[in-house]
Amino acid sequence: MISNGEHREVAWPIEGMTCPVCQGRVEQALAGVDGIVDSSVSLLSSRATVVFDPTATSEAVITSAIEDAGYGVGSSAPTASHTHDHADGDHHHEQASSASLWRDSEAMRTYIACLFFFGGLTLQLTWNIEWINVGWWSLGPSAVSFLAAAVVGGANFFGSGFKALTRLRMDMDFLMAAAVMGAIVIGEYTEAAAIAFLFSLAELLESYAVTRARRSLSELVRLAPETARLKTAEGDHTVAVEVVNIGDICSVKPGEKIPLDGTVSQGSSSVSEALITGESMPADKNVGDRVFAGSLNEDGYLELSVTAVSSDTTLAKIVKLVESAEQHKSETEQFVRRFSRYYTPIVTVLAVSVMVLPSLVFGASFLVWFVRGLTLLVIACPCALVISTPVSTISAITSAARNGVLIKGGAALEALADVKVVALDKTGTLTKGELSLSDVVPLNGMSADESLEIAALLESRSEHPIARAVIQEAQLRQIELSEDRIEQFTSLPGRGVKAVIGGVEYLLGRPELFDGATVPSPVNDLQASGKTVVLLGTEGGVTAAFSVSDTIKDHAREAVRHLKLVGVEQVVMLTGDNEATAHSIADASGVDVVLAGLLPEQKVEQVKALERSVGAVAMVGDGVNDAPALATARVGVAMGAAGSDAAIETADISLLTDDLRHLAYAIELARAGRRVIRQNVWASIGVKGLLALGVFPGVVNLITAILAGDMGASLGVTTNALRLAKITPHAADDH
Ligand code: ADP
Ligand code: MG
Repeated sequence: MISNGEHREVAWPIEGMTCPVCQGRVEQALAGVDGIVDSSVSLLSSRATVVFDPTATSEAVITSAIEDAGYGVGSSAPTASHTHDHADGDHHHEQASSASLWRDSEAMRTYIACLFFFGGLTLQLTWNIEWINVGWWSLGPSAVSFLAAAVVGGANFFGSGFKALTRLRMDMDFLMAAAVMGAIVIGEYTEAAAIAFLFSLAELLESYAVTRARRSLSELVRLAPETARLKTAEGDHTVAVEVVNIGDICSVKPGEKIPLDGTVSQGSSSVSEALITGESMPADKNVGDRVFAGSLNEDGYLELSVTAVSSDTTLAKIVKLVESAEQHKSETEQFVRRFSRYYTPIVTVLAVSVMVLPSLVFGASFLVWFVRGLTLLVIACPCALVISTPVSTISAITSAARNGVLIKGGAALEALADVKVVALDKTGTLTKGELSLSDVVPLNGMSADESLEIAALLESRSEHPIARAVIQEAQLRQIELSEDRIEQFTSLPGRGVKAVIGGVEYLLGRPELFDGATVPSPVNDLQASGKTVVLLGTEGGVTAAFSVSDTIKDHAREAVRHLKLVGVEQVVMLTGDNEATAHSIADASGVDVVLAGLLPEQKVEQVKALERSVGAVAMVGDGVNDAPALATARVGVAMGAAGSDAAIETADISLLTDDLRHLAYAIELARAGRRVIRQNVWASIGVKGLLALGVFPGVVNLITAILAGDMGASLGVTTNALRLAKITPHAADDH
């Protein structure tokens, strides 16, 4: 997003950022550069995104600031959505980083340190002699092996530890380097080797854990096809998807992926859209149907007319949304960040006093207490705590995206977990929304075809499902529609439409529009049978009645049951339709409460009232005429959002299919996410607290602190978070 003509937004991949502390350092480095308008650093996608004023600073200044903080900067990419190489560049970077993790120089040093460390232990048992012995220093074969382990393993962090020292900053690298040197000085070679080896191993495993969380995201990107077969006058050409334009024709053979969003222009096939919508059943696609990039063409040959360039496809939007989800921080996450800001300096002061006070005041052994103080500092690193929340949020959001549910960030996820009431719009949410005109009742002498013609003309400018039904019927009866006859069209949201045709002003819509006029008797009968009745008329009176019928979705009843199973207290149906029609749909679907006859502004009032009386409301709608109610509710959920950019962008949650059961899944996932976050926060605080207490009596030594407090805690919270990926929409079926 380029905010305006003067500011530029650029994203860089950052190398070597493995811990939230690193993330904080990059953030700090960026804060120190003048001319940066806005910046965000993502640990999980290893990226810094910066909006800056090019007249005040430059890319080079920004990258050197990041490099000065001790991190590598990859080649930049402008983030404007029409720039294609962005997602692609990233994707190569991701692949490279996860593949080389176990083979880079730091990993090699860790392996060698491991060999020397265990070699030393073996020598201690088998060839335990001393060559030299001066005071507390003695040198033998095992000591030499331990020293080698300390030097090789230490090489991983000595450099950056020294760099930190020159900037008067206490970081893990510096502390560990100091601990290794300290141990060598007092002749504890075994300790020195163990710390150097274990700390290197801890770092390696930690970056593996972060890479694993990152991987599910990059897998989504990788699923997008890279090439398309473009049809040209000279035949088919395989080209990169980035060069295909809107309106181009691409061909797709059986077993191939659909390269870009488009409409089928030739052929028919069944297409699996699991990647986009989470729907495992393939859908039949014929000429005129929409297809999405990344879906799989199963058995037929298709040609499609492209409707979106590669950076604008629904899949690209999903990936972008999931990537940026990390930036919409939840309240818990903000709290954890604030907490660690005060916590770290306090613990540092405490640790330094533990190092010096006992020997100064009580004359205790300086060496013993110095090592205990160091141990406290290792435990103090808030890595596990700070990483616990984002890693859980990302894990939940990515897993939801793979099941056809888009969750816009940690805040939306947290709100979803709180939902007490689900308010459902009727048309298109509980019903299929594929309305058909079932009855035309002419009144006052106008013929059926004549009234249908006027009604279809009035509806020709409306987006409402009723409009579609009316026009469809007029076409079926081969009624000519000359749209130039229509003047002064006005849409009356939630009520109907109004326009002047042939000099006469007509109204079409809900019966209340004709207040005062006597409602003709067939209307009541039609409504009682579950149909929606709309009236056509003028100032003078009603001229015709139309009834449209809709069918309830196959899974509506099951979906409502699932919502109750995952703990939703009340399921409410909100509709602008009349009581009788509303009740017949409500009975069939099993909702608790029906609120009918509502105008759009009354839907907003009802959402507010539910929020006051019961609790947080999730409002589900198609987003076309329910936008105000969706925006009012704590959580706005858009249904069937694939292909509707507006819905995806405005809703907190988007269900990409029309399957309402996915909402219960999303709520279950959000609740599980909240549990995991709480477990992670308390477990990491608890483990560190216990370890810290154990330092004073000497129960917890430096090695235990590295193993349990640093490596163990970080791996523990990450693994716990990855459990969220196991929740699927089908799990609810087992209840
Ligand atoms: P819902 O709550 O079912 O989505 P709406 O709020 O969209 O219903 O509309 C409420 C009522 O207003 C409809 O049942 C219908 O009677 C009338 N209405 C709204 N728009 C139109 C239209 N374009 N043509 C005819 N009737 C309409
Ligand atoms: Mg509606």
